[in-house]
Amino acid sequence: MGEFELIKTWFAPLARQVPNDQLLLGPGDDCAIQRVPAGQDLVFSVDTLVEGVHFPRDYDPRHLGWRALAVAASDLAAMGASPVCFTLAVTLPSADADWLSGFAEGLSRASAAFGLTLAGGDTTRGPLTISIQVHGTVPNNASLRRNGALAGEWICVSGSLGDAGAALSCLGADAPTDDQALVLAAYHRPHPQLDLGQQLRGSASAAIDVSDGLLADLGHILEASGVGALVDVDKLPVSPALVRLVGEAEAKRLALSAGDDYQLCITIGQEKYQSLPEGVRSQLTVIGTTSSEPGLRVHGAEMDGMRAGFDHFGRTV
Ligand code: ADP
Ligand code: MG
Repeated sequence: MGEFELIKTWFAPLARQVPNDQLLLGPGDDCAIQRVPAGQDLVFSVDTLVEGVHFPRDYDPRHLGWRALAVAASDLAAMGASPVCFTLAVTLPSADADWLSGFAEGLSRASAAFGLTLAGGDTTRGPLTISIQVHGTVPNNASLRRNGALAGEWICVSGSLGDAGAALSCLGADAPTDDQALVLAAYHRPHPQLDLGQQLRGSASAAIDVSDGLLADLGHILEASGVGALVDVDKLPVSPALVRLVGEAEAKRLALSAGDDYQLCITIGQEKYQSLPEGVRSQLTVIGTTSSEPGLRVHGAEMDGMRAGFDHFGRTV
């Protein structure tokens, strides 16, 4: 199967399934065309997943299709952006129809679930690598950034943390238990917090998605904002399945330092927090406060030897 037939068979159909009035031209021409409405800023980001580095070898292509778009969309969520469209650069060792069918299925489900339309891409041969650029919009100057946190604010996270980290040790399980299946689902099918991110525009002072681990990612907000923080380990939201699998102490350790959860971590003034609609507040857990004293302090856990985050060049941060 040639490159053009491959695109036509597996990828072009995805472009038609999520109609989007901002996408004036999708795959097939030299470029895609997006019209950004007046009064909106274009927010965009690219993420690359390399086999053996960001996902295991022989990873189920349906999971890969979903995860690749979810990981990229999570950055839009962290900016408070409304999703619009994405481009897809795939590098494949071969044109394996079974693999392509699974990948396109996972990608297609994610595209529909997140409201992101495939706008175009690039298809090449080589070691399996997926790059996805996502485009979103926000009203002018309303995006959530990392540098807006002030001292004396609440630090909140969405959902629960640590499940995806625990999944790493049972990825190869032949017959996962119910609890293992729950943490595996968090790893295979992360749900970027797109609605929550948009609901926090104008309220959160800073935001980031938790991809490398809470300590590492909160650390980026603190550094960009020039504030410190105190995090209360007792308040970290962990799922009952995770606690049953690894115990309370290990669950909290994973919640602090494991990645791949794709929840949001935000800072928010205490009055702004109180005035959030109940439906938004109920998606958040307050886990600590920011302070004028620099540094990230964790109350209730032994920090020594803790690996704070994943860094591609081997530093711990
Ligand atoms: P060019 O040579 O101009 O870069 P390509 O041959 O790479 O064009 O791509 C032809 C068309 O197919 C373009 O519109 C491109 O966006 C689309 N395309 C290529 N690969 C993909 C893909 N993986 N998914 C969606 N569209 C793709
Ligand atoms: Mg090309």
